[in-house]
Amino acid sequence: MSIVSTGSIDAAPRKKRVLIVYAHPEPQSLNGALKDAMREHLLATGHEVEVTDLYAQGWKSAIDADDFLQHDPDRRLQVIAASGRAYAEGALTEDVRREQDKLRWADAVILQFPLWWFSMPAILKGWIDRVYAYGLAYGVGEHSDRRWGDRYGEGSFAGKRAMLSVTAGGWRDHYSARGINGCIDDILFPINHGVLHYPGFDVLPSFVVYRSERVDAAQFERLRAQLHERLDGLWTQAPIPYRQQNAGDYELPSLRLKSGLEAPGTQGFRLHLRAE
Ligand code: FAD
Repeated sequence: MSIVSTGSIDAAPRKKRVLIVYAHPEPQSLNGALKDAMREHLLATGHEVEVTDLYAQGWKSAIDADDFLQHDPDRRLQVIAASGRAYAEGALTEDVRREQDKLRWADAVILQFPLWWFSMPAILKGWIDRVYAYGLAYGVGEHSDRRWGDRYGEGSFAGKRAMLSVTAGGWRDHYSARGINGCIDDILFPINHGVLHYPGFDVLPSFVVYRSERVDAAQFERLRAQLHERLDGLWTQAPIPYRQQNAGDYELPSLRLKSGLEAPGTQGFRLHLRAE
């Protein structure tokens, strides 16, 4: 008797896959607890989960010549060129290649970190710098006078979702539109738009814990419930409506937003949100 595959009629749908990239030196930290709560809930709701625990892995943060196995130490290091060559030839270090495999595997990526000096901890920035190789996260697609590559909504990670889960010491008011620290959406824009939307992710609104130093057991339970709700919406929640580079909103070759597309008075980062 021959067995002929008739496709996937009876096959169970593939479980959705989530990569959590976590940056905190203390396993018993609030960040560690949020990461554990996320992992448990995602597993309980039928996902496959991978965690990159940067401190536990002893992640090397600084990109340098050692990242490019075929680099000739007698020649000047040009990072972009070396990155592109090494990526194309499979000559990046094993730790970087493993993380790139996880990115390809994942349907969604969540970055869990404390806000340190208005940005991500250096170890997480180092994960981006080293894992986001030329040819994977940038330098993708046609580059010409008519087209600046596949980026900002297109690129290697198009079709995947991403979300930040961030703890901040400051108060919510301090991060409001008129708050002294600046608006949280502006502070996180370089990560959400520059690091995540650039290589193609659909970026969900960030999950932000304010006054994180004051979290107690009761508040943690409330945070856990809010986080569960966000995770339950991981595949259905509307992403931040960032404009796509190649969808006609920008002039060529300047890539300036065409005038008249924004709501009157809109300025700054908000220009790159579709007016809805
Ligand atoms: P932890 O110190 O681990 O915990 C915070 C609180 O949560 C504690 O009360 C702890 O008991 C409680 N907790 C932990 N786990 C649990 C649990 N499972 N259940 C119940 N309660 C729990 N803040 C800003 O707003 N802007 C900045 O630019 C900024 N820059 C910083 C730069 C540096 C270098 C540092 C060290 C801090 C900075 N901060 C800033 C503050 C920083 O964001 C907070 O310290 C951080 O968010 C706290 O997260 P954590 O995981 O380290 O908390």
